[in-house]
Amino acid sequence: MCEKSKADMLKDELFYSPEHTSYACSEQEIKTADEFCGDYMEFLNKCKTEREAAAFIKELAEKEGYVPFDPSAKYKAGDKVYSDIHSKALILCTFGRQGLENGAKIVASHIDSPRLDLKPNPLYEDSELALFKTHYYGGIKKYQWTAIPLSLHGVVFRRDGSSVTVRLGDGEGEPRFVVTDLLPHLDKKQASKPLEDAILGENLNILVGSRPFGQDKGSEMVKLNIMKLINEKYGITEADFLSAELEAVPAFPAVDIGFDRSMIGAYGHDDRVCAYPSVMAAFAAKAPEFTAVTVVTDKEEIGSDGNTGLNSAYLKHFIADIAATQGLKGRDVLRASECLSADVNAGFDPTYPSVHDKMNAAFLNRGIVVTKYTGARGKSGTNDANAEYAAKIQRLFDVEKVAWQTGELGKVDEGGGGTVAKYIANLGVQVIDVGVPVLSMHAPFEVVAKLDVYAAFKGFKAFLES
Ligand code: MN
Ligand code: MN
Repeated sequence: MCEKSKADMLKDELFYSPEHTSYACSEQEIKTADEFCGDYMEFLNKCKTEREAAAFIKELAEKEGYVPFDPSAKYKAGDKVYSDIHSKALILCTFGRQGLENGAKIVASHIDSPRLDLKPNPLYEDSELALFKTHYYGGIKKYQWTAIPLSLHGVVFRRDGSSVTVRLGDGEGEPRFVVTDLLPHLDKKQASKPLEDAILGENLNILVGSRPFGQDKGSEMVKLNIMKLINEKYGITEADFLSAELEAVPAFPAVDIGFDRSMIGAYGHDDRVCAYPSVMAAFAAKAPEFTAVTVVTDKEEIGSDGNTGLNSAYLKHFIADIAATQGLKGRDVLRASECLSADVNAGFDPTYPSVHDKMNAAFLNRGIVVTKYTGARGKSGTNDANAEYAAKIQRLFDVEKVAWQTGELGKVDEGGGGTVAKYIANLGVQVIDVGVPVLSMHAPFEVVAKLDVYAAFKGFKAFLES
């Protein structure tokens, strides 16, 4: 074996050169990561909307001993509480050995994903086909949502105040739904349009039926038949749609990708691929030094507005409430607190290299991405983490042997995006973005690497226990 040259040794010492995580992983660790991802895939299949994710995580948390937070109670180190934010977001909290005057460790991710919401008055018939009108939620490339199997999820409140949960199209043998597209033989005009105009939002109509009611002839007989079937199944009438939350999401289950099964293809990695590891990390961090707060929020995909999004006051109020149990002010706790904004970043895609600066892009299998800032153009609309805090988190990951890399969301002036980081930073908390790199982000079928998912779990756990 030849010795390393002096130059190579100096390079090792001086250069930043991230590499594939598996070089530093034992076989056992890779096996552990794959097993963790098996559970994550089950979670993905069970939870396709923020409501489903919030309900599932709440149930898991209750089994782990979390109880509803009581502002009038006194808590001691290790006590576990949760706060349910209108069934669409959730805060888990484990009280630390140190008092809240020394701050909390917050991990915040989101559990909503881009999808097609039904319009308030969705059902119509045209040319003896029944369809649902939709209004898309979040940033989608519309053409990706045509000609794929969809399932329907949500909740409908009936006139009498009772409600019914809808989940149809994911189970074996259940019907699916679909947005149709033009055949290539007749799409000359469509095909010559810019991609973003080729499919209009108003054309994302979902096919839901084609047989008329009985033998009676008349208008809207297919619609009548479909409404009758919906009424029989869910006990609702057309007017009940007006208040309902019904969401069409891709009907495919999470699957392994590649001959080596090293990746996962699924709907909604963004951002359940951070939410799930953060919740598992919260469960694993049993006796944290500082109070551990894990937030899974709604509405990130539409700008975090609304009373279940992090641009609302719910986190600020929760911190104030737990502060009050120790005779403290919320703002003093926030000032002393630290947060990982746990959200995905774009993985470098060799098919589309031109949108990335390769030196500052995140790569699959190189661990979690520490993103100092997101935003667009001149860092507009972002939390730009300060050097002190960025260095502290990077040091922590090094010490705890968490695979991590840096990553910017694409080239300067190529586009941009944001996360919940800025809303938490606006409360005075130290925040940095940390998350899993994703290919085909916001597509109905996104791809992540299993080793990165496990790195997220390790990273969040190390943070909560630090
Ligand atoms: Mn996200
Ligand atoms: Mn997103």
